[in-house]
Amino acid sequence: MADHLERCMRTLREARQHALEWSKDPTTKVGALIVDRDWRPVSQGYNGFPKGIEDTEERLNDREVKWKMTVHAEINALIFARQSIKGCRLITWPFLPCDRCIPCFINAGNKSNCSLFLRYETLTVFNN
Ligand SMILES: [Zn+2]
Repeated sequence: MADHLERCMRTLREARQHALEWSKDPTTKVGALIVDRDWRPVSQGYNGFPKGIEDTEERLNDREVKWKMTVHAEINALIFARQSIKGCRLITWPFLPCDRCIPCFINAGNKSNCSLFLRYETLTVFNN
């Protein structure tokens, strides 16, 4: 169990690092990692505009425009996965996956209940 928790924490830190390093969103940086049953990385994503859409200050600072255009971190992780995600875990930071992303993750092949949705705060409390 301790090893499992340690791997959860490490993956969550990697999702956080990925979000902070890559997301251009000035207020909400989100990271998602997909790992297999042995915690090996399968894919990763961050929230951002679609490929080819420039990250202009005007777009990034207009919440309505930004929300309509942004591809969620979980969806980007799914799109860039180069293998089946069946049986994989989805780790997100700092939010749980939203109700738009969870059905996509399920339809992409994960129908089991071994998906793991964690929040940093939850893990911090659990770790204490
Ligand atoms: Zn989402």
